[in-house]
Amino acid sequence: MFVDFGQSAPNPVISTLKYFNEEYREHAIDKQCRALECKAMSKITINQEKCKGCGLCQKHCPVNAIEGEAREKRKINQEKCIKCGTCLTNCPFKAIGN
Ligand code: SF4
Ligand code: SF4
Repeated sequence: MFVDFGQSAPNPVISTLKYFNEEYREHAIDKQCRALECKAMSKITINQEKCKGCGLCQKHCPVNAIEGEAREKRKINQEKCIKCGTCLTNCPFKAIGN
């Protein structure tokens, strides 16, 4: 039996482009993945304007990737960060983003 997929094959691609256009652009152009699903494209950073130096993020990081002491503003060591997202949910000042 012959089934001609030629006409309809691109449909799923066209549909996802239509409904997930922003996500496509984010991945293809900005090389970013907000959902943290594509680890290679995720980069978690601390907004230095918003950070209050409370250290909560550092306390919860499983791989000690967050640097800084006492009341200093914290920074993420990108080489150590495994992009688990734990710090994102622990910052009371919403200073961490990706
Ligand atoms: S939890 Fe937020 S405010 Fe506190 S040190 Fe970390 S990034 Fe800064
Ligand atoms: S994303 Fe995870 S590994 Fe990276 S700095 Fe935050 S808590 Fe640490």
